[in-house]
Amino acid sequence: MRVNKLLSSALYTVSALLFLIPQRVCGAEVVYSWHTNDKNIALTFDDGPHPVHTPEILDILEEYGIKATFFTIGQNVEWYNDIFQMEYAAGHEIGNHTYSHLNLRQLPYRAVCREIEQAENLVYETVEYRTRLLRPPEGAFGNDLCKAAAELDYTVICWSVDTLDWAHTPSDRIVQNVLENVKGGDIILFHDYISGDSPTPEALRTIIPALLDEGYHFVTVSELLNLK
Ligand SMILES: [Zn+2]
Repeated sequence: MRVNKLLSSALYTVSALLFLIPQRVCGAEVVYSWHTNDKNIALTFDDGPHPVHTPEILDILEEYGIKATFFTIGQNVEWYNDIFQMEYAAGHEIGNHTYSHLNLRQLPYRAVCREIEQAENLVYETVEYRTRLLRPPEGAFGNDLCKAAAELDYTVICWSVDTLDWAHTPSDRIVQNVLENVKGGDIILFHDYISGDSPTPEALRTIIPALLDEGYHFVTVSELLNLK
């Protein structure tokens, strides 16, 4: 009986510890969400900058005094460089979403490194900031990405709530999905680059005040992970 009790308490401790430690794959840290007792959550925006949607989202974030994390695509940083600089100047965190948004699982190791480094260098040349967080396009990765992330000193950031805004999901369904599923430590996936109309700004206008009312704090991914 006592042994069983000890065993179950040891198992509980091990599982609690495992929950605290980010998942490690091939030496790279891969984070989907963060264990925290605080009501901290991170809004993340992929694929931008976009000439219309990004400024609209920046305005909403500014209205509520919120900092988010933008996983930018190198090519879009080149094309919409002034918008990228606005994003950075507003104090948002910049993450690396590769140079040309290829599926990294299908690329050889050298090409994976090139995709990451090309985007990193472009951001550095523009604002003298070195990206340290990597979000693989479509969340697709394999051994080569893990090896490259470890080698290039990146933490791989996935997500725990997918808003499906990229599929032009109606904003009321995005709102419902987020509000019903969110918890402290979540990393929420949005996109600031969507071709055509975007449901994201309208959804944010409901989601942000609702979660603030519930006592949530919006933080950048680095703040969520206590990286700075
Ligand atoms: Zn993407």
